[in-house]
Amino acid sequence: MPLSHDCRRRLFPKLPQIAAAFGTPFHIYDETGIRQTGEELKQAFSGTPGFREYFAVKALPNPRILDIMKSMGFGFDCSSIAELDLARAAGARGEDIMFTSNNTSCAEFDAAAACGGCILNLDDISLVGKVPAMPELICFRYNPGPLRTGNSIIGNPVEAKYGVADHQLQDAFRAAMARGARRFGLHTMLVSNERNHRYMVETVRMLLQVIEQVQQALSIRFEFINMGGGLGIPYRPEETSIDVAALAGEVAALLQAFEERHGHVPRLYMENGRYMTGPHGVLVTRAINRKDIYRTYIGVDACMSALMRPGMYGAYHHIDVLGKESGAADLPVDVVGSLCENNDKFAVQRPLPPVANGDLLVIHDTGAHGHAMGFNYNGKLRPQELLLRQDGQVELIRRAETVADYMATLSFEPRLLRV
Ligand SMILES: *Cc1c(COP(=O)(O)O)cnc(C)c1O
Repeated sequence: MPLSHDCRRRLFPKLPQIAAAFGTPFHIYDETGIRQTGEELKQAFSGTPGFREYFAVKALPNPRILDIMKSMGFGFDCSSIAELDLARAAGARGEDIMFTSNNTSCAEFDAAAACGGCILNLDDISLVGKVPAMPELICFRYNPGPLRTGNSIIGNPVEAKYGVADHQLQDAFRAAMARGARRFGLHTMLVSNERNHRYMVETVRMLLQVIEQVQQALSIRFEFINMGGGLGIPYRPEETSIDVAALAGEVAALLQAFEERHGHVPRLYMENGRYMTGPHGVLVTRAINRKDIYRTYIGVDACMSALMRPGMYGAYHHIDVLGKESGAADLPVDVVGSLCENNDKFAVQRPLPPVANGDLLVIHDTGAHGHAMGFNYNGKLRPQELLLRQDGQVELIRRAETVADYMATLSFEPRLLRV
């Protein structure tokens, strides 16, 4: 079931008042739900010493959200200079930050170095020579290639641009050691939005096998393995949640067996984005136009600048019409934005109760990879973000973009080059 019942109960009755006060459209996030998910994750892995979640900043890069993650003891997974800045602004220091970039630039390495001891997660053997000063602790992102199959969002590992190939991994660690690395971690990220916990268990089994081989070959010891993010959420009403308790239990057994064989065990890290915040946000938008041609179109005041996933991946986001129950009167409609692209649709041929102009539509599960993925094509602006706080107050946590923001990069010192 998308969007928890609790969140619906907390949020839906307040939406008309919130929409009247702040205007539409907006994304709104539920602090209580985010904290519940975080605490449940920690609780599930409480039998795994040193377990830590590094929140994937790209999912919901808002300072107020990062503050919440920080207060739960989580670190941050960053992959750009702006994300490093956000993590540092949230108070993250040193090994609270994992820098997982790919196709990394010198400027990014410099920014990571300036963070003072964040965990560098290198994406390729060729990058070893490009790190300005090799830190003591180094991690590589592992790509198993034909040894594993990915899932549909992230694709087949052989075709993925990420990570160090299996046959290069030992040389990569050797090269890092030659430059001074003394502490080690191994990372991978093979699936996205995966609700079958067994897939993640197999990923941990694989990481433990790989570090076993590398440890033996190089006489080193791994401090941690990072199984990546990618825990899925139910976007469709008939879908079920991933069984995190089963995941934690089976992973703990693998780690225990490793400890019995070797007398030591790496810490377990994760870097979820979607699982942490996805179900705890909605996009609220108002129906402004209805047109009946070959199909019925419900035009709303948000467009794909606020939420790309349906247009980009054909992703399903459940939609409620506030105050109207789904039932026998439902009719199939396309819910559309105003962008001049025919894939600017939040839903296609979706049965919805009769929608009148002025109705509020609640598009579910926009708490991760929602606002953050937005763009400005066609001069469309990104909406505001709100937080329903634990104390019941609603806080503006990002203002809506303005035309002046859109024009900002057109204001610059004139420059001409004669060629
Ligand atoms: C995007 C990303 C994540 C988060 O993915 P989710 O599906 O949101 O959990 C984690 N790690 C890396 C390296 C990523 O690129």
